[in-house]
Amino acid sequence: MVTPEGIRPGALLVNGEQIEAIVGTEDLPKDAIRQDFGDLALLPGLVDSHVHINEPGRTDWGGFQNVTRAAAAGGYTMLVDMPLNCIPATTNVKGLEAKRQVAQGKCRVDWGAWGGMVRGNENEIEVLADAGVLGFKCFLVHPGIEEFSMVDEQDLRGALPHLVRTGLPLLVHAELPGPIDEATKRLSGQNWRRYETYLQSRPEEAEVGAIQLMLSLCHEFRFRLHIVHLATAAALDMLRAAKAEGLPVTVETCPHYLHLEAETIRDGATPSKCAPPIRRRENRERLWQGLREQIIDMVVTDHSPCPPAMKRIEEGDFQKAWGGIASLSLALPIMWTEAHRRGCSLSDLARWMSGQPARLAGCEAWKGRLAAGYDADFVVFDPESEFTVTATCLHQGQSMSPYLGEKLRGVVNRTFVRGREVFREGEFPENPHGRELRTVPTFAGRARVRSREN
Ligand SMILES: [Zn+2]
Repeated sequence: MVTPEGIRPGALLVNGEQIEAIVGTEDLPKDAIRQDFGDLALLPGLVDSHVHINEPGRTDWGGFQNVTRAAAAGGYTMLVDMPLNCIPATTNVKGLEAKRQVAQGKCRVDWGAWGGMVRGNENEIEVLADAGVLGFKCFLVHPGIEEFSMVDEQDLRGALPHLVRTGLPLLVHAELPGPIDEATKRLSGQNWRRYETYLQSRPEEAEVGAIQLMLSLCHEFRFRLHIVHLATAAALDMLRAAKAEGLPVTVETCPHYLHLEAETIRDGATPSKCAPPIRRRENRERLWQGLREQIIDMVVTDHSPCPPAMKRIEEGDFQKAWGGIASLSLALPIMWTEAHRRGCSLSDLARWMSGQPARLAGCEAWKGRLAAGYDADFVVFDPESEFTVTATCLHQGQSMSPYLGEKLRGVVNRTFVRGREVFREGEFPENPHGRELRTVPTFAGRARVRSREN
């Protein structure tokens, strides 16, 4: 069992939906119903605070059904949904309610919603917080769809005072449009089947400049800042300094930035397109270093499915292809393959993929660790077995992935959400019973207490 106190043999005593105690196997009550998982590892259910559930509006890209199925298969027990790619976007309460409506009866795991911060919706921020979103997301660059606008410094200055009053975090897609537009202009007429062309079109300066801007605003307004999908190691020094100074900033990166590398992405291989782009091997190694030093706090998937046609596989055009990688069902084996090779432990994975994302989402009182009083969310994981990725492993209704054909270490055997088995060796035994977690206002300020809703 991977517990906050370390890895040790034992038994998890589950009563109803909660963990009652962690005990020695000899200390189980006589009348307890036993399940023996042998030498397999028990990890806390994974929490993914960066997932795109494109329902309502773009359910064919991946909606509650498909996404939470992939999540259960991957050992995830709680997801937080990004406010864009669905129509309507979650930028006001009407959009939030539309999402809640369509989620009914479809979720195999628990979930929560981020609200959107877009140009002109500053007056919705506190209303959305009252309605139960767990925090907010904004883009400093065009997000690629029309229903969600980007914000600039001026917009942020208008919205941040509202955010501060909610006490909730702001998640930021940190790339500035300036350096990207300039680079793209320079590259006009180049061969966009080449991965190198795409890589050059999204330079590191775009990320570094955006993070710089957000850190200075964080300094001024003192809000909980979270940098999503950090792809460049060039920002690590700046982030290290900000943390040392005590700024309330957290950072995530994704399995694809920690596993893939620009050098081996073939030309035309658009399933690997995401933004910011996967950079070079040397950069990836420095991201790992940042993770070890806890400058990067967590690893989340940015699970973002789309219909295969949008990846333009036949043309292999990196400019026209949709950017996004869907990896909920594979993230744990991908991370274990890399982590094991680098001498990191299952405890590190539990912290990066469960404890820290739970804290960002504000559900750290229920999710993110194997301990008495916590939700009985756990994964039975075989850390020794290896498998080759095929379309059937994806469990997401689509067969497109940059990981097809890869040999990975570690197999998710079973997943339990609040004591009920939601995944067992390729099958999904239960009817969906996932719930939404919401913030509720409190007397002593906002957002410290979370309620759970059906
Ligand atoms: Zn995303």
